[in-house]
Amino acid sequence: MIYLVICLWFGIAGAVVARIKGTSMFLWFLISAILPVAGLLALVLYRSERDEPRRQCPGCGKIVKAHDALCMRCGTELEFPDELIAPEASVRRG
Ligand SMILES: [Zn+2]
Repeated sequence: MIYLVICLWFGIAGAVVARIKGTSMFLWFLISAILPVAGLLALVLYRSERDEPRRQCPGCGKIVKAHDALCMRCGTELEFPDELIAPEASVRRG
């Protein structure tokens, strides 16, 4: 059950990111819901990295990309950054 909720959330996040990028919301909703982490990562990586948000790993302090799910140096699992989660208003509308 919790897994379904996570899938739904990733699907919504994928749809919102797709809308921002101007690609198919429905397609990316499906991809992100079916492949929660990989699908959304694929969508995020789809864009240019030049203005990629970054953040610091809480485990080792390494600067990693904001969309990284795992620290490449110490393997700490990173929570998904707020920037890529749908704004509350647009989730309720959708
Ligand atoms: Zn780390």
